[in-house]
Amino acid sequence: MVRVTQAEPIRRRSALRAGAGLTAALATGCAAPEPAATTAPAPKAHRTPGTARPARAAPAPRRFPGQPAQIDHGPRTRDRVALTFHGQGDPAIARALLEEAERASAHVTVLAVGTWLDAHPDLARRILDGGHDLGNHTLHHIDINALSEADAYAEITGCATRIRRLTGSVGTWFRPSRTQTATPLVARLAQRAGYPHVLSYDVDSLDFTSPGPATVVDNVAADLRPGSIVSLHFGYADTVAALPPLLDHLAGRGLSAVTCTELLS
Ligand SMILES: [Zn+2]
Repeated sequence: MVRVTQAEPIRRRSALRAGAGLTAALATGCAAPEPAATTAPAPKAHRTPGTARPARAAPAPRRFPGQPAQIDHGPRTRDRVALTFHGQGDPAIARALLEEAERASAHVTVLAVGTWLDAHPDLARRILDGGHDLGNHTLHHIDINALSEADAYAEITGCATRIRRLTGSVGTWFRPSRTQTATPLVARLAQRAGYPHVLSYDVDSLDFTSPGPATVVDNVAADLRPGSIVSLHFGYADTVAALPPLLDHLAGRGLSAVTCTELLS
């Protein structure tokens, strides 16, 4: 499932070894290949509309006054950072990451792919019940910036519909798929779908290249500042192994891991 033989991640890794650092050109992020498991036809949800209410209403998207249309970091003056996860892949890995975060009293933000929620609908509530933020990461995780207006909008609303059905809200955030930043068109479409801001990030762990847990931690540590929003991924064993030492690193620097809502509030 973890495919690391693609030329692109290896090129990035080589560039990192050469000391090129995480430049904007390299940090195209969230380019994780879609795990094969989620390409299977989605099972039908067990609940019938109207028969199962969410335990509590999930938070809706918010407008944060003073923040830009695309947010890539929070205040630099407070000792807080946000760990954000591409929500896709093996549900056991997702659960392991959530448990590890909770063991350290960390709250994270999960941007869920719609087809992944179709396959694992219980994870939406699991994420919220852990005190984490749940957001929209498009329906199929394809290159949304390359789509037509109609197709891009369908990718956003397709995921929003699923999150609303499972939680009562469209999710707190929208993050575009296979890109660090949305085009102006995609940002407008996200606003039309109910998301005042697009959630980007300023630190790319490159965990989806499976570089080994120590390198994942080093990648984050090198660029992390107070207020940073870090891109990480469910679905990769390296991320599970990297999270405890990464959380230790944060603690050592006096940084708390909070949700993006908490980071910006
Ligand atoms: Zn992604």
